[in-house]
Amino acid sequence: MTVRLVKKVFLEGNIEVKTGISVGGGSVGLEIGGADKVVVRNPLTNEPYVPGSSLKGKMRSLLEKLYGKVTPGKDDKGNPTAMPCKCGDCLICEVFGVSAAEDKGMASRLIVRDCKLTDDSSKKLEKSKSTDMPFTEVKTEVVIDRITSAATPRNFERVPAGAEFVLNMVCNIYEGDKEDELLGKVFEGLRLVQDDYLGGCGSRGYGQVKFTLKPLTCKNQECYENDKPALPLEGIQIPKELL
Ligand SMILES: [Zn+2]
Repeated sequence: MTVRLVKKVFLEGNIEVKTGISVGGGSVGLEIGGADKVVVRNPLTNEPYVPGSSLKGKMRSLLEKLYGKVTPGKDDKGNPTAMPCKCGDCLICEVFGVSAAEDKGMASRLIVRDCKLTDDSSKKLEKSKSTDMPFTEVKTEVVIDRITSAATPRNFERVPAGAEFVLNMVCNIYEGDKEDELLGKVFEGLRLVQDDYLGGCGSRGYGQVKFTLKPLTCKNQECYENDKPALPLEGIQIPKELL
């Protein structure tokens, strides 16, 4: 069977940080500047970013919960965890892919790029005198031991509310694909994340985001063959909540 790529659809826009966001944190911060949980940074610019894998994983896991596709399984260390759907037949598998190690392995149609700070946010945060670490704030939270009542302060590094990241995704559409249904799932995933959170500590108020999509564009075979720029994508409505 031959597979023909019909077009690449570009979903571009931005991610507004509504409440401080902490994505990617390890716990190496004590040595490098004073936080127990730090954000991921680009080593060349030192700017924080949202890894595409974090956004994509969150979209997928929320969609799987919504459609009852979460299956219990074990992680590498044998601990119980929720496993992604691997049926290979549902729209979630078609959009997000199935590991090649599975019987029905398939490549992800959706590519989610790492989200860097917008130029404007980068400049503002770089100039700000109120950031605790470059581009970020450090929030101290007190963790109370329920038995001893001992209060332990912990420091969390966050990208502050008001910052904006660039949203940049590509969805591959193959011959026979129902483009409106595939893109519909992508929109649903983004709306679910908006009503949930990105990064850590969401139940404690972190990570609320708002996505804004620009009009969608696409490139087909003709665009690549004749060195043409992306065309407007006709016939797909962006949901109001993503405008
Ligand atoms: Zn599936």
